[in-house]
Order: sequence, then structure tokens, then C-alpha cells
Amino acid sequence: RGTTPEPPDARPRLTVLSGPSGVGKSTVVAHMRKEHPEVWLSVSATTRRPRPGEKHGVHYFFVSDDEMDKLIANGELLEWAEFAGNRYGTPRTAVLERLEAGEPVLLEIDLQGARQVRESMAEAQLVFLAPPSWEELVRRLTGRGTEPPEVIERRLEAAKIELAAEPEFDVTLVNTSVEDVARELLALMDVV
Ligand code: 5GP
Repeated sequence: RGTTPEPPDARPRLTVLSGPSGVGKSTVVAHMRKEHPEVWLSVSATTRRPRPGEKHGVHYFFVSDDEMDKLIANGELLEWAEFAGNRYGTPRTAVLERLEAGEPVLLEIDLQGARQVRESMAEAQLVFLAPPSWEELVRRLTGRGTEPPEVIERRLEAAKIELAAEPEFDVTLVNTSVEDVARELLALMDVV
């Protein structure tokens, strides 16, 4: 009858997963990608030193301060932030290419970065991962065992500020179970 079908929601949304350090963002993302490797996760550049087991180009692009200066000056980062004494940023081109190709894209970044993405990409969906309780967050940050006490202290300070930002986000997921949160995140990304 000459009706034009509704165009599918052609532009897959960029999903940003944020939340306080230690809340379990990377664990959720790792779990999700094991079952759904088609979800493309942006690999950030950072000036932080690698932790044991972290690989260049897989977990992060580990860069020097000079290299980070250049990435920022050349506008190569979609967003960047300083977190607990190190800089972290999302390479812009890779993200835009994947979105153009119609693939689901996930960023796992800190709160300041999430705010920048909100500014530059209004269609982005911002997801806040919250701990079940403050005590649980302290336990997780302290128990990681990979950082010296002063680093943990800095991260707890940052976490306090970050928790207050929850209302700025589109959706909050409480990290009571990795499996549940991973499933909820996939549903939000329209992957399942
Ligand atoms: P970590 O040092 O524990 O790997 O990461 C510290 C914090 O930096 C985490 O909250 C993590 O989500 C965030 N982060 C990782 N990559 C980026 C990025 O590209 N941009 C921003 N803004 N934060 C990031």
C-alpha cells in the first residue's frame, strides 16, 4: 500500500560503562566478551604501568607521557582523563569506524570520560555500575593486592566522588552478580 517500513534503528548506540574504581567493571566486561566476542571493546591508551599479565594492545596501549601529550594535541582521543595520577584516553578513530560498521561498541571508562562522551555524542547510552555497598567496594579495592596502600587510598577517595555521580547516568546496574550484570548489559546493548 505504498507505506514505507519504519527504518530500523540504524545507528547502533555507543554504550559507556562507568563506575567507581574497583566496582568490577573489567570483570563484568571480560565475562560478557567471553560469551559475546562480537561486542567490540575499545582499547584505551594509558600512561599507567602495566600490571602483571596485562598486554600492550589487549588491555591497554601503554604509552609514555610524551606519546599521551601527542595523542591529546592531535585530537586523536574521543575523551581522556587523569585518574589517580595517570592519564587514560579512548582512541577516536577506531570507535567511530566500528559504529559506522554497525557494530555494538562498548567503552569502559571513568566518570570524567563518561561525561565527555555525553557532551560529544548525545546518543551514547551511559551505564553506571554501582557496588552492592560501600563496604563491599572498600573490600574489593583493598583485596586486589596489586597496588600499594597509597594508591588504594587515592582510589578510595576517587570512588567516593564517583559514587555521587550516579544520577547523571541513564541506567544503573548493581554489581551483585557478574553473570546478571553482564546479561543486563548485553540486553541494554541489544546484543541478546
Ligand atoms: P585501571 O588503572 O584500574 O585499569 O583504570 C582506572 C580507571 O580508569 C578505571 O575507572 C577505568 O575505567 C578508567 N579508564 C580506563 N580507560 C579509560 C579511558 O580511556 N578513558 C577514561 N576516561 N577512563 C578510562
